[in-house]
Amino acid sequence: MSYRKGSKVWLEDKDSAWVEAEVIDVKDKSVVVLLPLQRKKITVAADKILPRDTDDDLGGVDDMTKLTYLNEPGVLYNLSRRYALNEIYTYTGSILIAVNPFTKLSHLYNGHMMEQYKGARLGELSPHVYAVADACYRAMMREKCSQSILVSGESGAGKTETTKLIMQYLMHVGGRAAKDDRTVEQQVLESNPLLEAFGNAKTIRNDNSSRFGKFVEIQFDASGRISGAAVRTYLLERSRVVKITYPERNYHCFYQLCASGKDAEKYKLGHPSCFHYLNQSKLYELEGVTNSEEYLKTRKAMDIVGISLGCQEAIFRTLAAILHLGNIEFSPGNEHDSSMILLPIKIQSLIFIFKQLLIYSCKCNPDLLLSTLCTRGIQTHEGNIVKALDCAAAVANRDALAKAAQLMYLFLFSFEQFCINFANEKLQQHFNEHVFKMEQEEYRNEEINWSYIEFIDNQDVLDLIEKKPIGIISLLDEACMFPKSTHQTFSAKLFQNLGSHSRLEKEKFSETDFIIAHYAGKVTYQTDFFLEKNRDYIVVEHCNLLSSSRCSFVSGLFDSLSEESSRSSYKFSSVALRFKGVLEAVRISLAGYPTRRFYSEFIDRFGILAPEFLYGR
Ligand code: ATP
Ligand code: MG
Repeated sequence: MSYRKGSKVWLEDKDSAWVEAEVIDVKDKSVVVLLPLQRKKITVAADKILPRDTDDDLGGVDDMTKLTYLNEPGVLYNLSRRYALNEIYTYTGSILIAVNPFTKLSHLYNGHMMEQYKGARLGELSPHVYAVADACYRAMMREKCSQSILVSGESGAGKTETTKLIMQYLMHVGGRAAKDDRTVEQQVLESNPLLEAFGNAKTIRNDNSSRFGKFVEIQFDASGRISGAAVRTYLLERSRVVKITYPERNYHCFYQLCASGKDAEKYKLGHPSCFHYLNQSKLYELEGVTNSEEYLKTRKAMDIVGISLGCQEAIFRTLAAILHLGNIEFSPGNEHDSSMILLPIKIQSLIFIFKQLLIYSCKCNPDLLLSTLCTRGIQTHEGNIVKALDCAAAVANRDALAKAAQLMYLFLFSFEQFCINFANEKLQQHFNEHVFKMEQEEYRNEEINWSYIEFIDNQDVLDLIEKKPIGIISLLDEACMFPKSTHQTFSAKLFQNLGSHSRLEKEKFSETDFIIAHYAGKVTYQTDFFLEKNRDYIVVEHCNLLSSSRCSFVSGLFDSLSEESSRSSYKFSSVALRFKGVLEAVRISLAGYPTRRFYSEFIDRFGILAPEFLYGR
């Protein structure tokens, strides 16, 4: 890029990322720029500046591809100008960028707006999530093939809210307009509060953060009416049930149940501060949310979705049991390295679990529970032996049982940072393949002459993570199989096997942490909890305990797990094994030609500009 006197530019700035500047002199490899707002002149290297759009349209452009200079500061500036005017949506070609308004914009989302966007061509009206949903619906009707919408963004960006808006729109255009509360549409929409009660929690970044992934499928018949729906969920963060830190919370459902009045009394529940699984973080209320009202909403959603009263009871009893279970403490037992349940401190809780929950509801055998908590069966060549657990192991065992019990509500749903970044790498690859490689292919087919720009190929990062037998996930799974592994031995193995990989670095100030150079930047991973989080095992005894339940719903759930686990001492099912960005999109659009017109359409519209070519001189 060459600059001349008077060129409007962006200058990199360590405080505000980019500041407006104007070139006032050009030297060999540097330029002198004037910063009008700061009223100063400085000399900078030419690679520290980027060209800036000079159009003074304060509203910004509704499609980034209309910017003359599609660069990071230009995109950010455009988004911020629009955001200031409450224009939260902006296109980049056919991609919609939404900036979270963090306030209700009721004029944007209502029946009238939905009607406006119905059948409108993408780009005809202001950018809107309804427009994307509508384009998708039309494409499905026209091409008679399934369409998908990918909603991505970091935590708190607005994915869940956006997905709900898309679903509402599709319900609007494809609904059957029946007044019955239990139409497919209603059931699909009500699945949201339900999944959120059991799968969302307050985190540092989002008061209603989804701790699971979700795939919503809506089926339509040939006439475009909704005929069915399925919501698949995966990877619920299970460690949260037993371990939380301030200012985060456990799953919403626990606080709702504690505030449920009569039901809470029935289950001998009190204020959340009475329960270890909730009082590890002294934050119980959310701004603008009333736990008791949310409880009623959850129950109503369960009704609409079709969960029987009996099942609803079983689910809430289980939640209560999990809370009481967390209050069981242990003291050293009479024998070396053994433990016993600390009595009578939490006797209330204990009696409750035994009598009310596990016997009457789950109909489990209380003796089995007792032996399950302080011992572990080990299979040896000579047969089964029962090993006593010391206090720390008994606590870990209790937490594992709580997590296993949580599986009871997992039926609703069919490492967190590492897995998320891995997912982004996978998405990036998908993006490269489907957007970029396909674009290049199209230009080749159309014989369009343009330089094939290099795109970020992240295959090497994916190899580092998922390659078998030596990739981070494989090594982690292997480490989890060996009970004696620690995060230190895992790290040592990691560096021993993958230390020379260009994308992997050792964290300088730690023996065990590692850094991955992701396509979006470097991220440091602390291995401390890696093993623990990946070891999502279910102890055989817990399975037996829960499947011994005379409640068919509960036992059914654990029967299959029990069968599998009886073959090994515990069922090993690692999270990592089961687990299988926006400027980049702008960059790709910038590199290519985002607008496509059929030749005939183009001639119709622009032919008038060059009649001599069309009709001869
Ligand atoms: P996570 O990955 O943590 O689940 P997310 O991307 O799903 O995050 P949301 O829960 O959808 O984020 O959004 C966080 C909050 O931002 C919402 O609770 C809501 O307050 C606000 N929000 C998001 N989108 C909108 C919107 N379109 N209008 C108004 N507020 C919004
Ligand atoms: Mg979410």
